[in-house]
Amino acid sequence: MRKPIIAGNWKMNKTLAEAKDFIDAVKNNIPSNDVVDAVVGAPNIYTVKLVEWTEGTDLKVSAQNAYFEDEGAFTGETSPKALADFGAQYVIIGHSERREIFGETDEDVNKKAHAVFNNGMTPIICCGETLDQREAGETDAWIAGQIEAALEGLSAEKVAKSVLAYEPIWAIGTGKTATSEQANETIKVVRETVEKLYDSATAEAVRIQYGGSVKPENIAELLEQSDIDGALVGGASLEPESFLKLLEAANTNE
Ligand code: PGA
Repeated sequence: MRKPIIAGNWKMNKTLAEAKDFIDAVKNNIPSNDVVDAVVGAPNIYTVKLVEWTEGTDLKVSAQNAYFEDEGAFTGETSPKALADFGAQYVIIGHSERREIFGETDEDVNKKAHAVFNNGMTPIICCGETLDQREAGETDAWIAGQIEAALEGLSAEKVAKSVLAYEPIWAIGTGKTATSEQANETIKVVRETVEKLYDSATAEAVRIQYGGSVKPENIAELLEQSDIDGALVGGASLEPESFLKLLEAANTNE
């Protein structure tokens, strides 16, 4: 039985004071991490503060990106070694906004996944197709290709511990959610790809989230699907009340 994982992705939002208010409102109200993993993906600049504020609680902290080198002449980049040193437990890797706006390639995503693991953190590795690709019937091949490239050279043991996130680009921030059946079908493709590349035990162990306009109103239906193990949530993770509702849905889902 895979434990659900709900991760908020604040993207580039919130002041320090707003971040603190959010954490104060949620940190003592989240379900036990025996049942669900609750993660907040704050802008990297807040990582050190979030770790401090959430100490002793079940709320875990994720960064939103990391470079693939630990140190050196990379002006403006964030070191995965520093993030681990601060106490981040997860790093979101290969989000479609990183790929589309900042030109990240499959190769970058793969190197970043290695760097995150090498520093003792867990990557949340994103994949997803555009609307044109879906309409052209290219989704499954595209997703399989992205997953294969992202996992290149990672051991089965590491892949089993990874979190993968299927986020159709056309559903991100648009209010258009994939239907829970559509999401589950493509997530099955992700799992089958892991099985082909590794083995069935690894495919059964890896947790795969859905992301794209997830909100308290649709999360239960998504989590009821056979292969959806949680959600990566942007807009609906920004308010404490809504984030807590998402966690509660994961807590009560059998
Ligand atoms: P959204 O974003 O929930 O606002 O659609 C999801 C994401 O980009 O991870």
